[in-house]
Amino acid sequence: MPAKYIFVTGGVVSSLGKGLAAASIGCLLESRGIKVNIMKFDPYLNVDPGTMSPFQHGEVFVTDDGAETDLDLGHYERFTHAKLSRDNNWTTGRLYEQIIAKERRGDYLGKTVQVIPHVTNEIKAAMKKVAQDVDVAIVEIGGTVGDIESLPFMEAIRQMRQELGREHTLFVHVTLVPFIAAAQELKTKPTQHSVKELLSIGIQPDILLCRTDRFLAKDIKSKIALFCNVAEEAVITAKDVASIYEVPVVFAHENVDTLVLKCLHMEAKDRDLAKWEDIVHRVYNPKDTVTIGIVGKYVEYEDSYKSLKEALVHGALAHNLKLQLNWIEAEGLETGDNSYEAQLEGYDGILVPGGFGKRGIEGMLIAIRYAREKKVPYFGICLGMQTACIEFARNVVGLEEANSSEFDPATAHRVIYKLRELRGVEELGGTMRLGAWTCKIEPDTLAHKIYGKDEISERHRHRYEFNREYEEPMTAAGLRISGSTPDGTYVEMVELPDHPHFIGCQFHPEFKSKPLEPHPLFRTFIGAAYEYGLKRRAQKETAEIEMFHRPEKIRI
Ligand code: GLN
Repeated sequence: MPAKYIFVTGGVVSSLGKGLAAASIGCLLESRGIKVNIMKFDPYLNVDPGTMSPFQHGEVFVTDDGAETDLDLGHYERFTHAKLSRDNNWTTGRLYEQIIAKERRGDYLGKTVQVIPHVTNEIKAAMKKVAQDVDVAIVEIGGTVGDIESLPFMEAIRQMRQELGREHTLFVHVTLVPFIAAAQELKTKPTQHSVKELLSIGIQPDILLCRTDRFLAKDIKSKIALFCNVAEEAVITAKDVASIYEVPVVFAHENVDTLVLKCLHMEAKDRDLAKWEDIVHRVYNPKDTVTIGIVGKYVEYEDSYKSLKEALVHGALAHNLKLQLNWIEAEGLETGDNSYEAQLEGYDGILVPGGFGKRGIEGMLIAIRYAREKKVPYFGICLGMQTACIEFARNVVGLEEANSSEFDPATAHRVIYKLRELRGVEELGGTMRLGAWTCKIEPDTLAHKIYGKDEISERHRHRYEFNREYEEPMTAAGLRISGSTPDGTYVEMVELPDHPHFIGCQFHPEFKSKPLEPHPLFRTFIGAAYEYGLKRRAQKETAEIEMFHRPEKIRI
């Protein structure tokens, strides 16, 4: 059976959660035994988001094959079992790069190369590639209907319907139904306009996912159905929820899966969402709270650490805990006095995430020293491992000038230096150590206890590495190298055996964590943090009771 296609477009405004909607539809279809793949087209001209600022674009999600992709692919992996690669995310820039390379090779045999059919054909070929070996391919079109740059993609999906027919293609449009406080009314006009825009390019949506903050009453649904020419049952309330993991459950409540299957003329087994319902139950019934401080540079904009935030949530859910996440601006710790202590106090665990560039590094080093000395559970990811090594080299080994050549190329002690394979490479796009690499874990280490394995595979995105010339003095002073590439070239994990939980990894474990399969590094970090927090709170309480029983102390 050839695959069927679901095309997901967005209207009215951006940030309506199209990616989450696509991922949740995938999740629901999988719960009915259907095999899915999901992809996204991004209409911008960058070849990939790798060189874009995290402020602009949010996190860059890395796949096993080393593609730097849109963060929505992270949602796809967290919600489904689809195996994603560079085939699952295309930008206009990458499509044109490919088309122009073909043109230069002479592949078009003297023809004029045009948006229709040449660009649209490339888009359709990319869709068909991900649809191999699955029952349903879900295709998300980035941007908002009406954007000039998304037109070729809209045209391509229109052609797909023309080619394959109604039974094999489905148009899902994510739109907004705002509640206007002044009128005390839900407004359907933006949705009507958005559908009109779609119709003007030849696309009649089959299902409308209406983002709203309250359930849509029958009369509102009827009105939208009438004006937008869709069945009333196909007007879905996509209500705001407290946790993204509730979206599949909310969609199930609205029978989205049954509707999709009906439109695509597909048979499937009954829905089994028990595991997702359990996750939602945990979200709303935590036994306690765990408080984690993330010390980073891009703290103002949460999307820049999307996967990290979700992986911490997964870790907390595994212990039935609510995650209280505080973002600590690294530069704000560089006070020159002891006032950073007040900023770092009160956390059950401290984490330094990945990052690039010099800004905030000294603040991160202050936070790491604090965590190391006060025995606060510490987790360093990529840059957070590199800075942990620099801090150790400076303050324990005594190499005051220890640094990374990324931040100080002239330093006497380059504890972290440019990846040897990248020396001389100045271009920025795609020139990093990217994607999945195998790491060998040393026995009798915290890392081994956490993974319970001798070998693991994790995803990377970095340009600098630990300099093995410093291995001897650092390990002699108490640092343990607990993971390396099997040939010993790269240091992948470090830890401090005389600390309850101090671990750093050169890779990004957050990319592989899922709510139903929390990553062991996050699960154990949260576990250690919670335990530390309980102890800290108990000590504080004892101290307070002592104070209470000795009132003279208070008087002093
Ligand atoms: N800037 C560091 C490097 O390139 C760390 C990268 C990261 O944290 N992703 O190696």
